[in-house]
Amino acid sequence: MGIPIPIGGGRGGIVGIIIAVLVALVGGGFGLNAATNGGGSEQGDNTSLEQKCSAQDALEQLDCRNTLYVNSIQAYWRTAMPEVFGEQYKPSKTVFFSQNVSTGCGAADSGVGPFYCPADDLVYIDLTFYRLLADQLGAQGEFAQPYVLAHEYGHHVQDLLGTEAQMRRQQQRDPQNANTLSVKLELQADCYAGAWAKNATGTSDEQGQKIFKSITDQDIQQAIDTAEKIGDDAIQQRSGRPVNPDEFTHGTSEQRKQWFTKGFSTGDPKACDTFGGTL
Ligand SMILES: [Zn+2]
Repeated sequence: MGIPIPIGGGRGGIVGIIIAVLVALVGGGFGLNAATNGGGSEQGDNTSLEQKCSAQDALEQLDCRNTLYVNSIQAYWRTAMPEVFGEQYKPSKTVFFSQNVSTGCGAADSGVGPFYCPADDLVYIDLTFYRLLADQLGAQGEFAQPYVLAHEYGHHVQDLLGTEAQMRRQQQRDPQNANTLSVKLELQADCYAGAWAKNATGTSDEQGQKIFKSITDQDIQQAIDTAEKIGDDAIQQRSGRPVNPDEFTHGTSEQRKQWFTKGFSTGDPKACDTFGGTL
């Protein structure tokens, strides 16, 4: 039985957000940059995202874009994992849910936030959280969603590499430091998300067409803003609780921002050694 690994900012912080208008999620415009085709296409200057997703209605667009984000993240790790860690990547699916879902880690309902379940190797995205990101946390940018997905796939990579299991064993041996160890795992997932973001423009869809032409400074800023918004201290403050570092499980806003940025600036998952040194 695995323990689900949420992104933070779920039920612990904000309770009782009811999913009402999913469409509002995609109302804010998803203008990812146009990519130039590999050549020869009549479609001209467009990304896979624009070509495939723009014409669809809002709900389908959400689905379409998130599928492409997931494809980009997994395409990255398919190459990066053998290169960087000498291990094969195994793809993992994402389950989107809005009310409740039964998982290898037990039942989950909306409000739990996105999480990765090591027991069934699946990423679960609570669509309520996407809405919360946009509405309550003020993370309006389109790049909030790929950041969340890349963080969860970071946990999948940690699972494949054995980092997650090792961390759980350490927690059992050293329960006093259980939260600190959790923070290290979470910040490493943030850093892996940054490494993907740096390399996302090198990823292609199944037709060999680029998924992103460029990731702009603004995109990265949106990911960093999202990471900041779901820092443990920020969540405690928003919920009106005193900030208590002993309860941190995901890292402070500053730490989340720093580790995402470290992954992005180096583009190298090896630089994400949160377990090796100081945070
Ligand atoms: Zn996480």
